[in-house]
Amino acid sequence: MLRQVAEGVLVHESEFCQSNAVVVHGRDGVLLIDPGVQDHEMACLANDLSDSGRTVVAGFSTHPDWDHLLWHPQLGTAPRYGTARCAAAVRDQLSDPGAKADITAHLLGTGIAERVPLDLYGLITALPAETARIPWDGPQVRIIEHQAHAPGHAALFIEERGVLVAGDMLSDVLVPMLDLDGTADPIEDYLAALRLLEGGWRMSASPRVGREPIR
Ligand SMILES: [Zn+2]
Repeated sequence: MLRQVAEGVLVHESEFCQSNAVVVHGRDGVLLIDPGVQDHEMACLANDLSDSGRTVVAGFSTHPDWDHLLWHPQLGTAPRYGTARCAAAVRDQLSDPGAKADITAHLLGTGIAERVPLDLYGLITALPAETARIPWDGPQVRIIEHQAHAPGHAALFIEERGVLVAGDMLSDVLVPMLDLDGTADPIEDYLAALRLLEGGWRMSASPRVGREPIR
């Protein structure tokens, strides 16, 4: 079920690690950030959207980890964006013909392996490097790319709604997970990213006091 957290911003929480899919209302439809994990959860989200007369006009994956690259046919065929580095990392993953089977194998024992749909996995359109905002007809959504957790990870800041979508940088249930493969100093990269997010938040023209960042 969708839960409103700010005007025109709603979240759909997965049973898996309490990760959030985030919906932002635009003029002609919604921006969908990190759509979800399990088949029935994304179908539920798609039904909630169609029940409210809304369609997805743009998607965004915050980073190239498997649980942020999924999609459901009922969500439609809107472009699904990621940073250039994110899209390159996904291309690299999918160059291995066994990539999807590896994800399923990785999930064995979690109880959700057969509920994670991989047909539309990773179909990400790269935004040109240095793109500052999501290209869509809705509230301005600033892209804050950094070096922590995964290649090309970006937080999205919906400034006029006072909402920061932090991807996997902040979690209620997991410790911070460092990108141990892609960087020389993953701890400093993580700290630098947190400073960047904090700075973006503080630079907001009219931050809403008391609004919790969305994880
Ligand atoms: Zn992740």
